[in-house]
Amino acid sequence: QFNAEIVSVGTELLLGQIANTNAQWLSKKLAELGINVYHHSVVGDNLERVRRVFAAANERANIVIVTGGLGPTEDDLTREAFQLLSKKEMEIHAPSLEKIEKYFRNNYITMTPNNKRQARVFKGSIVLENPIGMAPGMIVETNQVTWIFLPGVPREMKQLTTEKVLPYLEKKTGKKDVIQSQVLKFIGIGESTLEHELIDLIQTQTNPTIAPLAQNDGVVIRITAKGENKEHVRHMLDETRKKILSRVGDYYYGTDEETIEERLISLLKEKELTIASAESLTGGLFMSRLISVSGASEVCLGGIIGYDTNVKRKLLGVSDETISSVGTVSEACALEMARGAKEKLQSSLAISFTGVAGPAEVEGKPAGTVYIGICSASGKSEVAEFSFQGERNTVRERAVKKGLEMLYH
Ligand code: ATP
Ligand code: MG
Repeated sequence: QFNAEIVSVGTELLLGQIANTNAQWLSKKLAELGINVYHHSVVGDNLERVRRVFAAANERANIVIVTGGLGPTEDDLTREAFQLLSKKEMEIHAPSLEKIEKYFRNNYITMTPNNKRQARVFKGSIVLENPIGMAPGMIVETNQVTWIFLPGVPREMKQLTTEKVLPYLEKKTGKKDVIQSQVLKFIGIGESTLEHELIDLIQTQTNPTIAPLAQNDGVVIRITAKGENKEHVRHMLDETRKKILSRVGDYYYGTDEETIEERLISLLKEKELTIASAESLTGGLFMSRLISVSGASEVCLGGIIGYDTNVKRKLLGVSDETISSVGTVSEACALEMARGAKEKLQSSLAISFTGVAGPAEVEGKPAGTVYIGICSASGKSEVAEFSFQGERNTVRERAVKKGLEMLYH
């Protein structure tokens, strides 16, 4: 049974200056090969600490992938640390040295001696020549553990992994189980309600596993399956998805990369409906999200940004009576805006947004108060009041999201 550890070397990772995307990417690739990853370690550029992390990995994993610290500078210590652990000797890898020297020659830069350090490899290792960078990678087989050393630069790391490391590991591990995930997205249902509806499945299913997660754009369920081959795994995922959707399908809008706006556009297309918007605090954000979907032109007619009261009055036909009696942050105004947009743009339906983005209150209404109106194809109108939390642009985003959700249902 193979189990892998990914060691990321670099103080900048610990300082929070960069995210550990190398480990994330490598984990995904190993999962696709069915190799379990039991640990991620991150360690700074310090010889003794790197040695200790290597020693720990040596005890608990049988595949260790190390990224970073292969460069020319004093703080690149990966080789030295592994040497302390393994007592293996190093030698210069002639083709890599030649390449480095040629690079300096061609660019008329003097090569400082430390650059030669990058061409050092362990005796008896499989050298992974680096076509786009200086330092080569290495695979070192010890008695118990396969050690794989890769440059820290993501582009170089990925290229060496795809071309050399994955084929090597696939051969070695005999490609057992395939692991695949699918993300099902929901809107209009809370995380806890969703979990409640599926709790028996979540608790009893082990393959695929089912896990609800809260995300920015609503609630998602991740289902993860493990099996002999891709087809089998896909089938398992599809079956589980069906089971889930038979219970909470009403709130489902897409899988993986599918977005709510894409779904809405295709729904409107199916029904041969067109849409227009009247936007105050959202300032066109709603229509912009719909138009980001290719093919939106078939259903999106346009919108009127009625931010100022006079624009609401003149272009959207909001009545003086509404303005003087209940103001522009009101149900009545939202309804008149939606009707106005529908009439002016001759769409089948229209949606409107009016409210207080903040930080200051408006017309005595606190920041976060938003009215969303919909004038539907049948001529029926509806309006809803919300009070969103968050700073100005969060309120605006939340209003747009709510509008998408209202139209979707
Ligand atoms: P170089 O030869 O460029 O010095 P190296 O093998 O010594 O490569 P590092 O110096 O540790 O690698 O990292 C080079 C660059 O790669 C870093 O500045 C950083 O931007 C990026 N990098 C390193 N490790 C990671 C990581 N785990 N995830 C994402 N990016 C990383
Ligand atoms: Mg470096």
